[in-house]
Amino acid sequence: MREFDYRRADDVPGAVALLGADPEARYLGGGTNLVDLMKTGVERPARLVDVRALPLNRIEPTDDGGLRIGATVTNSDLAAHSGIRHRYPALTQAVLAGASGQLRNMATVGGNLLQRTRCGYFTDLTQPCNKRAPGSGCPAVRGEHHNHAVLGASDHCVAVHPSDMGVALTAFDAVVSYETADGPGELPLAGFYLPVGDTPHRETALPPGALITGVTLPPVPVAARSRYRKVRERASYAFAIGSVAAALDVSGGVVRDARLAFGAVASRPWRAHAAERVLTGAPATAEYFAAAADAELAAARPLPDNGYKVTLMRNLVVAVLSELAEEAAR
Ligand SMILES: Cc1cc2nc3c(=O)[nH]c(=O)nc-3n(C[C@H](O)[C@H](O)[C@H](O)COP(=O)(O)OP(=O)(O)OC[C@H]3O[C@@H](n4cnc5c(N)ncnc54)[C@H](O)[C@@H]3O)c2cc1C
Ligand code: SF4
Repeated sequence: MREFDYRRADDVPGAVALLGADPEARYLGGGTNLVDLMKTGVERPARLVDVRALPLNRIEPTDDGGLRIGATVTNSDLAAHSGIRHRYPALTQAVLAGASGQLRNMATVGGNLLQRTRCGYFTDLTQPCNKRAPGSGCPAVRGEHHNHAVLGASDHCVAVHPSDMGVALTAFDAVVSYETADGPGELPLAGFYLPVGDTPHRETALPPGALITGVTLPPVPVAARSRYRKVRERASYAFAIGSVAAALDVSGGVVRDARLAFGAVASRPWRAHAAERVLTGAPATAEYFAAAADAELAAARPLPDNGYKVTLMRNLVVAVLSELAEEAAR
């Protein structure tokens, strides 16, 4: 491992100043992703600015009835928070579906959103990879890609974003707050991750040196009737091969409001707007749930070995929405 400078920041302006404009410096959250990447040499920061002592570890109500989650709140504390469990249950379920208890105790909200892809070529320094070494190529397109993207990818990169938490936050229109040397800013999660295009190494719209300070959940009444379902290759301690965050408000057998986001199918958590449009005002039946899934998945461009994801996501959407509709009818 390369030698590096370690600093612990006490306040937000201090953290931003310590990182400065140094492209070789990184903020350190729980370290559960960054330190692993440092051990393999994928990340080689000259300086780490530890953010865990910053006063960003609270979850507080906002004036409009939403919740503001500090960037250093651990995944465990987020999942256990009573406001999250009752008003945004899919978010608690998404967090608890990820990693392990020990990892969730360390991992932070900011770090979770910025964790890197699990594409095997990205972490293998003997291989080319446009995300790690821009312009070197993407061996996954013709190589091992059974867990790669079917939506929104490009020939330059077909990797998926691994976060479960981000999928639920996307379904509920969360907004990321950040701080830079030039002042604070905000990005809706919908615009937080950049399209892949020919620059897969540029992953987010955060300005250089930005410190994530929190994530705000607006009040979303339908979120109280939500669910997260994750499919993986083994029952625990594995990343998703497909996941769905869904919320459904049904009255008189008709869908009044719906939220839907997909995980592990694109370079970012994927908000299923086309499906939501089909659902809103439609009968709450499996037939319409399948039509909604098909509307979203019409844009899918699977590779030779990951076409199964299209079927998997369709079945997942129908199953989760059917369960939510059944609950609403009780
Ligand atoms: C074995 C294993 C299994 C896992 N399984 C899952 C899973 O199933 N689902 C899932 O979603 N995740 C899973 N994870 C990933 C885990 O959730 C992430 O590693 C974790 O959330 C990252 O948070 P962290 O605080 O440790 O980030 P760090 O590792 O500290 O940082 C990650 C990145 O975020 C940056 N960063 C951190 N905080 C900030 C901030 N406040 N502002 C700006 N930049 C910041 C860092 O510079 C770094 O680039 C797994 C991890 C492991 C090791
Ligand atoms: S899919 Fe993306 S991360 Fe994987 S090898 Fe290709 S460019 Fe690299």
